[in-house]
Amino acid sequence: MSVYARPGTPGSLISLQSRYDNWIGGEWSPPAEGRYFENPTPVTGQVYTEVAQSTAADVDRALDAAHAAAPAWGAASAAERALVLSRIADRLEENLETLAVVETWDNGKPVRECLAADLPLAVDHFRYFASAIRAQEGGISEIDGDTVAYHFHEPLGVVGQIIPWNFPLLMATWKLAPALAAGNAVVLKPAEQTPISILVFAELIADLVPAGVLNVVNGFGSEAGAPLASSPRIRKIAFTGETTTGRLIMQYASQNLIPVTLELGGKSPNIFFSDVAREKDSYYEKALEGFTMFALNQGEVCTCPSRALIDDSIIDDFLDDAVERTRQVIQGDPLDTATMVGAQASNDQLQKILSYLDIGKQEGAEVVLGGEQVDLGGDLSGGYYVQPTIFRGSNSMRIFQEEIFGPVVSVTGFSGYDDAMSIANDTLYGLGAGVWSREANTAYRAGRAIQAGRVWTNCYHQYPAHAAFGGYKQSGIGRENHAMMLDHYQQTKNLLVSYSEGPAGLF
Ligand code: NAD
Repeated sequence: MSVYARPGTPGSLISLQSRYDNWIGGEWSPPAEGRYFENPTPVTGQVYTEVAQSTAADVDRALDAAHAAAPAWGAASAAERALVLSRIADRLEENLETLAVVETWDNGKPVRECLAADLPLAVDHFRYFASAIRAQEGGISEIDGDTVAYHFHEPLGVVGQIIPWNFPLLMATWKLAPALAAGNAVVLKPAEQTPISILVFAELIADLVPAGVLNVVNGFGSEAGAPLASSPRIRKIAFTGETTTGRLIMQYASQNLIPVTLELGGKSPNIFFSDVAREKDSYYEKALEGFTMFALNQGEVCTCPSRALIDDSIIDDFLDDAVERTRQVIQGDPLDTATMVGAQASNDQLQKILSYLDIGKQEGAEVVLGGEQVDLGGDLSGGYYVQPTIFRGSNSMRIFQEEIFGPVVSVTGFSGYDDAMSIANDTLYGLGAGVWSREANTAYRAGRAIQAGRVWTNCYHQYPAHAAFGGYKQSGIGRENHAMMLDHYQQTKNLLVSYSEGPAGLF
């Protein structure tokens, strides 16, 4: 175990710039209006760099670069594009520790998580889509003896992508890898809270990607995101963020009649059936760890298992053990590799979580663990830390219905399978769910009955590149990951060809 040096201090892996511009056409591009906003690190709350505050003019500049690059990139063979993606993966892997430190410094998440999950998943994502695009086959349909229909996958052209702040590099990768593999040029807007790791990444791969194929425009949602999403110069908009913003994105897209994919919020149930506690064995320990997953990434995960549903017959004992297990989760300096829970990504997010802690208490939920802000001392006192918190209450409470996006779980009991399914599905959302049971039939039935796009069974928070991910209900439209999502970044060209010499005979 060790503590990574902070960027720019002696022994650190990287010095960051004191100012970041946009990344357009393969080079840094200052914002048209010359404005910058301050970017603090959540680790200490101190501002360490400033970032371009872009407007529609910058979006247009990026779209110019993307349009100039799109034809050649789209015409490159699948093998050529796959090679670029593979090289990006290698470059990411070679710089894994450096990028992990940048991600931690900009986002507040534990470096341990970046090293073990976010970055390796990003590497694998590029490798996976490099393979997937090569494996993709067109189709030939024999219409009749002399007529053939050929189907070709063609890129859309220039696409827009807007991402949130909770997994900056991984969310960028989820969008970039398939879009680039499919032959599109991209204009991406990172979240204003966490743009730095993506900008460092863009510069790091500058020699691998043709100029203009990947462009990054920084700034706020209304000033930079809206002009991108509503531009008639994009052929698709892919968005990850809040459900309320997702509604706006869909409205913008409707003006231009372009396809939209939306990855939105969640309020995922994590369901523990009575047989979980049949024995206090290694399976039981695994289930307890599954319960603690609400605190992973400080709860800033769209699929955070933020509602734990536990069978009435085991709830008291199970919760006692779950509390003890949660106490073992180490909170501390995010750059310390022992730390499991770091800082919330922004002060706004910290304040939002604290307000929900108050709401839960006012609603009469029992605070079983935590419930307060944390002061870690030294200069970490300025950082954005919250105790992992366990509430016990009922599913009608706001803390069960509204996305808190913090290390907070709301626990309630259920009486049998039907009651569990009814509570699990009593939500506007349908992104993720967890089912814990030793009984294969119970787990299978529950998995099929829960209205969510991803149901983990006897596990949680795994995100392999080749498992489809996305929401039911108000959690989204479309899927990410898995080769099936290449469809979201391609259009089908059908050539219908007659090889007959004779006339059709219709006229
Ligand atoms: P957000 O909607 O506030 O912001 C997301 C992005 O949209 C940011 O880049 C922001 O600048 C931009 N934006 C905001 N207003 C915009 C507008 N009017 N037009 C265009 N762009 C605009 O969300 P957030 O707070 O950054 O992220 C947290 C949310 O993301 C949570 O609800 C979480 O559940 C969700 N999320 C979902 C997934 C998923 O895969 N389903 C993954 C991660 C996060």
